[in-house]
Amino acid sequence: MKPPPRAPDLARKLLAQPLTECVACVREGGALPSDLVSAAFDRADDVGAGRESLNIFLATDRVRATESAKELTALIGRAEAPGNLAGAPVAVKDNIATLHMPTTCGSKVLEGYVSPYEATVVRRLRANGAVIIGKTNMDEFAMGSSTENSAYGPTRNPVDIRRVPGGSSGGSAAAVAAGIVRLALGSETGGSVRQPASFCGIVGVKPTYGRVSRYGLVAFGSSLDQVGVLGRSVEDTAIGLEVIAGCDQLDSTSADVPVPRYELEKNARLDGLVIGKPKEYYPEGLDPRVAERCERALDAFRELGAEVRDVSLPHTSYSIPVYYVVAPAEASSNLARFDGVRYGLRVASESGLTGMYEATRARGFGPEVTRRVMLGTYVLSAGYYDAYYKKAQSVRTLIAQDFRDVFLSGVDVLFTPTTPTPAFELGAVKDPYEMYLSDIFTASANLAGVPAISVPIGTASGLPIGGQIIAGHFEESAMFRAAFGLERALAGKALPGEGSA
Ligand code: GLN
Repeated sequence: MKPPPRAPDLARKLLAQPLTECVACVREGGALPSDLVSAAFDRADDVGAGRESLNIFLATDRVRATESAKELTALIGRAEAPGNLAGAPVAVKDNIATLHMPTTCGSKVLEGYVSPYEATVVRRLRANGAVIIGKTNMDEFAMGSSTENSAYGPTRNPVDIRRVPGGSSGGSAAAVAAGIVRLALGSETGGSVRQPASFCGIVGVKPTYGRVSRYGLVAFGSSLDQVGVLGRSVEDTAIGLEVIAGCDQLDSTSADVPVPRYELEKNARLDGLVIGKPKEYYPEGLDPRVAERCERALDAFRELGAEVRDVSLPHTSYSIPVYYVVAPAEASSNLARFDGVRYGLRVASESGLTGMYEATRARGFGPEVTRRVMLGTYVLSAGYYDAYYKKAQSVRTLIAQDFRDVFLSGVDVLFTPTTPTPAFELGAVKDPYEMYLSDIFTASANLAGVPAISVPIGTASGLPIGGQIIAGHFEESAMFRAAFGLERALAGKALPGEGSA
């Protein structure tokens, strides 16, 4: 078969194709990785990814990306082409360490900071042929649900630029939704991949705690953090996760559990799969648009031969209070390292070392980060530790037990809404507590350490809505099986007035 012509046009079209097709074309010599890099940057220009508009990237490096692409071409020429991502342009959240480009975590305290080493996930992406084109905007230190907490201005949702893309991985979600890259890395502590995926109409995966190395991920809440994957389709995220997953000597919390080939679940049947519908995730007063799309998704599961079973996770209502004790407690300790000595910003002071610490942190951290550090320090302080932190840890165990019980009872996966509402307008949520409630359906999976994925399940007035599939520890294959099925079943099934999404 004659390979298709090499042309920038083709590269542009390829960017809109599934990763497998894009990579196959590169391997067959039909498209050059450097054409794909150019196509990604052209697309970024076309959609207005820049600061004054969508504000997706905190850094890009076209020159180096083009160089890497050319090195790849040489390898392909010698038939040494690496991996499943050969030539694919990829974006990386700015709290994941990359060489050469800054890693700022969306914070002034790390402005211009370039890591001396790269994260394991980035190394694995590159080893599999991905080309890193830029670092994406995010809520400062991943604290937030809208990307409005970035010290470098908010990212806007490509679906509707008056709205937030979600957060904290808002830049990564927007880069995928805007068609600049097929795949991006994000991070999750309480929903930061799934919630923006849901708001932007794409797929977002949070793996099991320990599935993916955290080496080089700037720590927020170490017992909750995981690197996650955002993509346009379930298959793309399955391929992306497979590349970054697996044990790593450099992260003692990464688990030595074999990584299955998730994309093999693509056409698996759902007959006999038991899907739990936890009643606590469908409260009275749930946005009717969200509730309706979820019911339709559950019907789709039934049509595919799955059994939908009503279940209960009785401690669900504690997940937000528990998360907002545990995560700030860990953050207050993790963020102690930003002291003006070791990294980034240093603000001189006339009152000695302590004065320098105070001045640096006061100028370097934004209001939400300061709030979390204060909250975390408070709940860990001697007089309050038992009342808050210890109590929260006990309740966390009960939340994890709820998941264990439901999966032991024969349920394979759970299906819930990802978020209580579609994307809100920039500036609309001013009360921090109201913002925290964005995580009401997502934080529990982080507290329990189980994997979860958000899949687009339709739109309401053009705004995307996501459905969440949660599985047991290291059961990502079951999660992907259900996600592939749902995606297949909903393809082309728009409700009246829903448009083509
Ligand atoms: N929105 C949550 C928070 O602000 C979750 C953030 C995350 O997952 N990184 O903490």
